[in-house]
Amino acid sequence: MKKHPKVVIIGLDAATWTLIRPWIAEGGMPNLANLMKMGVSGALQSVLPPLTPPAWTSFMTGKNPGKHGVFHFVETEREGYMMNYANGASRRSPTVWKLLNDAGFSVGTMNIPFTYPPEALNGFQISGLDTPTPKSPFVYPPSLKRELVDHFGKINHDVRFLGFMSTDRRRTQVLDEMEKIDRQWAAVALYLLEHHPQDVLMFVFMSIDTVQHYFWQYTDHTHFLYDPKAEPRFGNAVRQVYERLDAVTGRIIEKLAANTTVFVVSDHGGGPVVDRTLFLNRYLHQIGLLHYRRSADSDRLPKLGLGRIPSNILRGVFSLLRTSLTSRQKTFLAEVFPAIRKRAEFAYTSFQNIDWIRTKAFCSEVLASPPSIWINLKGVKRRGIVEPSEYGALTDFIIEKLGELKDPRTGKPIIARVYRREQIFHGPFSDEAADLVLDWWSEDSLFSTLPSFKKDRKKPPVMIRDHRPSEDSEWGGTHRIHGILIGRGSMLKTDAEIENAKLVDIAPTLLYLLGVPVPEDMDGKVLTSIFRSDFVAAHPFQAADASGVSETHRTSGYTDEESAKVEERLRALGYLE
Ligand SMILES: [Zn+2]
Repeated sequence: MKKHPKVVIIGLDAATWTLIRPWIAEGGMPNLANLMKMGVSGALQSVLPPLTPPAWTSFMTGKNPGKHGVFHFVETEREGYMMNYANGASRRSPTVWKLLNDAGFSVGTMNIPFTYPPEALNGFQISGLDTPTPKSPFVYPPSLKRELVDHFGKINHDVRFLGFMSTDRRRTQVLDEMEKIDRQWAAVALYLLEHHPQDVLMFVFMSIDTVQHYFWQYTDHTHFLYDPKAEPRFGNAVRQVYERLDAVTGRIIEKLAANTTVFVVSDHGGGPVVDRTLFLNRYLHQIGLLHYRRSADSDRLPKLGLGRIPSNILRGVFSLLRTSLTSRQKTFLAEVFPAIRKRAEFAYTSFQNIDWIRTKAFCSEVLASPPSIWINLKGVKRRGIVEPSEYGALTDFIIEKLGELKDPRTGKPIIARVYRREQIFHGPFSDEAADLVLDWWSEDSLFSTLPSFKKDRKKPPVMIRDHRPSEDSEWGGTHRIHGILIGRGSMLKTDAEIENAKLVDIAPTLLYLLGVPVPEDMDGKVLTSIFRSDFVAAHPFQAADASGVSETHRTSGYTDEESAKVEERLRALGYLE
């Protein structure tokens, strides 16, 4: 007899109520509107900072990043200053998928970010955006990959990277690619439902995140990059993606039995990039905490483990990268190294010029986000100079000084909140996070960052961007803390709004719904308010022992051959001359 899924979860990366609600009010997004009427809905608070890799990993584990070890697209070397790409192997906690398997439920997941390499689930797993190439073994079991390729051809995760979008023609091309990818994933999802149904199924679609990053500025008249001339062509780009995925959601739901519980979730929200840009390392320099190398010192560089020429630097930056770059990572790189597009300098040189043995605090400016601050702590960092006894006073000082950064037009502080690592992360891996996390995702604390170069060290740390369309391709949208949650099912309330739901609550809620005890070390809580009271009364909560940590196969080392390959790719992409 054919299996009927008990639960189907549709993931819409970065979907946000601030867009969906007004469109529904106008009669758009009919499938999501209908689900809301038949079920429960509300905001879903992401993890801090609200980034795709830690967010979906917290969703899958029910734990804060301190317990699963995924904080970003990249990991910072603990003792040094270098970075390398993270992927699903960076996750060090069991997933809810595994717990459901252990409890006897089969599970299939499609395109969830940070699930590469795929888990050997009872069911299947098709990895998401951390999949290196279509040739990589990103499907478990491997026979399913052959079957899918037979039916659908090459399975594509990639859209063209941001730096590609230099003309309207190319922007249109990227929108077409996004649509093609959505159509392929939608067809795969419907095929899996028909031919490989599991007790629990999850399908993720990424294009809302992409279109918001690339096209938000065209939809928003108040955006500093708004281009009235491009409005006819791209003014509807974001909405078209939402409506398309609303239709896909409808087609998936049509296939389900009436008693299947359905959730629609996003890992974080979205919103415009604002015109305030900070140069944080420049500011740290100006308050005496960061020093640049004197030019005569440049010979010392190799001893510090940072190469002098770009290729050596890149070998360092990507030193631990085992997998090749995905296009999402290329997109990310284009953001990280914006100046490369002008073939001038690139962000990493700003890092290269830091004199570590005279620097107490630095920002991971090389990362577009989050603009977090690291303390150059003695005994931890190779060139650390901050005594552990000085740590508290130093971080107090930085927090106070960050509060003094004001928008010159309003006189209001730019950064409304700075979190100490221990305020937002707890667990065995929390010391892998940055020391201070600056809020860039709240409406009262919006800004972006750019790399600080030594030659500009005396310029103001705050720049207000010109209000005109940019000739470069750049992000017009970024993330916000609140994603969406919609749920429909026979044990759920109908037409009800829910409050205070968090992304980490989904995993324990899923376990509860299926009668599986919830591990005590999950940080999320069962969302009892979404269930009908008679269901809650008849189904007491059951706790289970901690699910603990799982030491997966960590990536380590990077051969010369591999770094040569990465360099070759970067050169092809225009990152290197
Ligand atoms: Zn995301």
